[in-house]
Amino acid sequence: MQALAYAKLNLTLDILGKREDGYHNLQMVMQSISLSDTLTITPGSGRMDTNLSYLPSDERNLAQLAAAAFRRATGQDCQVDISIDKHIPVCAGMAGGSSDAAAVLRALNQLTGAGLTPEQLAKIGAAVGSDVPYCVLGGTALAEGRGEVLQALPPLPACHVVVCKPPFPISTPQLFARVDVKKIVRRPDTRGLIAALERGDLADAARRMYNVFEDVLEPRRRSEIDAIKSVLIDCGALGASMTGSGPTVFGLFDNAQAARQAQQRLSEQYREVFLAETV
Ligand code: ATP
Repeated sequence: MQALAYAKLNLTLDILGKREDGYHNLQMVMQSISLSDTLTITPGSGRMDTNLSYLPSDERNLAQLAAAAFRRATGQDCQVDISIDKHIPVCAGMAGGSSDAAAVLRALNQLTGAGLTPEQLAKIGAAVGSDVPYCVLGGTALAEGRGEVLQALPPLPACHVVVCKPPFPISTPQLFARVDVKKIVRRPDTRGLIAALERGDLADAARRMYNVFEDVLEPRRRSEIDAIKSVLIDCGALGASMTGSGPTVFGLFDNAQAARQAQQRLSEQYREVFLAETV
């Protein structure tokens, strides 16, 4: 069986508070896009491989963890071999690993005829990672709590997306450590964005996107993220933002030619620039 694992973008990322368990309460509008990994899943003995030699191919891979979680939750003894062709950039804030895990859960549900609902699969996925439940459901959704409390939203109107991953890593724990919830001055307009989705107003939704992590980036990283956003807006993006804990930046376009122009301009400076659509 072949399965596609779509990348996710954060149209918004807000941090509402710190919890007693040390995690943060998040509020995020998530969106799937057509940039995807391809998984080939066949009955086998539990082997796995990917086209990226630096990724783990054992039980540390989220796809393997998901298969084990599915077996535990359903009692099915379904051993499979998993081969992943990665296209979603790694450590990019696009939930690539979580999406692979979600694709394995959906595929095993189909292969075994277990007949679990997406909500049941999402629950199994929560044990693998907090973005996995969203990746099981996909589309446009509000994610709260650590990201596992989900509510489907009216879909973002179809549009073109330009995604640019600059070549520096950002440490997620360091970003969380730098956020002082009481001192967040700029937040996304999550309510306004959801109202725009309800009206099917792409431009208004795009204008309200924001990611609070952008404010706590190191100054030189912040300038680079801002520069990429400026190129996207100059080329006609309706809005641009960083996704997840970065460093990937994306812009939404209602015009295919403008999106291609943005892709070309960013490709002069960056290697990982992609043109995609909403899913
Ligand atoms: P998120 O947006 O959920 O924070 P991310 O895009 O920042 O995720 P991923 O690319 O999903 O990060 O995962 C990064 C880490 O997970 C890497 O350390 C990688 O080794 C590990 N990993 C495990 N399985 C996978 C997989 N199938 N694909 C990518 N990374 C994986």
